[in-house]
Amino acid sequence: MKYFPIFIDMEGRDAVVIGGAEPALQKVRLLLKTPVRITVIAEPATAELQEHAAAGRIVLQARAWAPTDLDGAFIVYAATGDHILNAPIAAAARARGILVNVVDEPTPSTFITPAIVDRDPMVIAIGSEGAAPVLAREIKTHLEAYLPAGFGRIARAAAALRERVAHAIADLPTRRRFWEQLLSGPFRDAVLDQNVNAAEDIVSAELSAASTTLDRPGRVILIGCGPGAGDLITLRAQQALQRADVLVIDRLVPNEVVEHARREAKRIYVGKTPGEPSPAQDEINAILVREALQGTIVARLKGGDAFVFGRAAEEMAAVRAAGLDVEIIPGITAAHACAARIGLPLTLRSSVREFTILTGATADGELDLDWRALARDHHAFAVYMGVDSAPLIRRELLAAGAKADTPVVIVENGTLASERAFATVLRDLDACVKDESVQAPAILFFGLDWLTAGLTRPSHVKTFAKPVAVAEPAWSKAAVAEATHWVMG
Ligand code: SAH
Repeated sequence: MKYFPIFIDMEGRDAVVIGGAEPALQKVRLLLKTPVRITVIAEPATAELQEHAAAGRIVLQARAWAPTDLDGAFIVYAATGDHILNAPIAAAARARGILVNVVDEPTPSTFITPAIVDRDPMVIAIGSEGAAPVLAREIKTHLEAYLPAGFGRIARAAAALRERVAHAIADLPTRRRFWEQLLSGPFRDAVLDQNVNAAEDIVSAELSAASTTLDRPGRVILIGCGPGAGDLITLRAQQALQRADVLVIDRLVPNEVVEHARREAKRIYVGKTPGEPSPAQDEINAILVREALQGTIVARLKGGDAFVFGRAAEEMAAVRAAGLDVEIIPGITAAHACAARIGLPLTLRSSVREFTILTGATADGELDLDWRALARDHHAFAVYMGVDSAPLIRRELLAAGAKADTPVVIVENGTLASERAFATVLRDLDACVKDESVQAPAILFFGLDWLTAGLTRPSHVKTFAKPVAVAEPAWSKAAVAEATHWVMG
């Protein structure tokens, strides 16, 4: 973030706009929304500028600009529409330490005007650091469609209630929850409909309800945060993160996801790193209970989906045993996300009717699985935590009758920038894991291939075949004996 977004109080300040055509007019219209004093220096000036001047909204100087025009200004827009004319204006402003924007030229500018969604006093500024104003405008259009025109009324109504609410509810987390509930419920609709009486009734009712539930216990939200890419979480998860007071975070949870939470939310990292000391499950359970008993909303952030190899049952049981509620928000599990990345469907109408997910994690070097069932044709499965046990899985499957050329696909760090994917066969699985030094987190898919699905393998999936030992020449003794046998009949 090279540009720092802030909102500046324009009361009592001076803005100078140099230029009289459309670019200047646009900036003047924007500045007129604020209380800043506006001087426009334009030669010639358009009718619109003259009207503003006649109405006393701006001071208009219909002449060429001079550097001294900038003295005492807080911000300057160089909006002559001419690159050559704008340059000395920018230089003069910079020399005086005045904020300057050269319209459509980020380089000589010291600030950029963002795309703005104006729901005064709610204002959303969107910037792309000058890289792609078109995208910023696209976001603006989406937001404008999403935020009703009367949205600002809600903020003004909230401002009018602020003191009354603060007086009625002293506890900060409770007060914040009160606001969240009030501003997303029927109060909001009443304000948007300009139904003042209904709005007042709702506020009174909610305030008295809030004061009776002041010591309401906290709760835990178990959130599946997806496989790694920051945008692979659900809207519900995103909204829950906004509400959370405390975040209890697993290792595989992407930072981008944590960023959805409020800045002031407390963060507790409890990631288990294989082979390193990390909090025991009991400690994590205790943390969840301890934090929620403070009356806070605790978001428990898990990689993928909490119900897939996520120790969710233990955490839910512990929280419920303490008399607290648990809410579950599903996430995209690694197998689904990895399959999507490589365009490999997990079931096929006639040839793959069953799909199993299983863990390759072993407590004591053994995997107690029904290998014969797994080795069946038309059966596909995904192995989580299976990198270390790949040799064991290969051995057991082959012993249970699986074909040596059963397709195996591995996706490592799926959906992350470091993602790698390999296509091999069961026979070569160990060699692939070893030679390509496949690391966790990775998903191993068995019994799925693009060919059976009538698809082609994407080019970013690397084919791995174990280098074959040099074959015996055709005239070796064994081959000759075999040939002889045939000839002799
Ligand atoms: N609850 C998680 C799984 C946790 S177990 C989920 O639903 O996805 C951890 C295992 O998940 C890893 O060992 C790996 O097998 C798999 N995994 C998690 N993230 C992954 C990713 N980005 N790419 C590949 N595998 C991943």
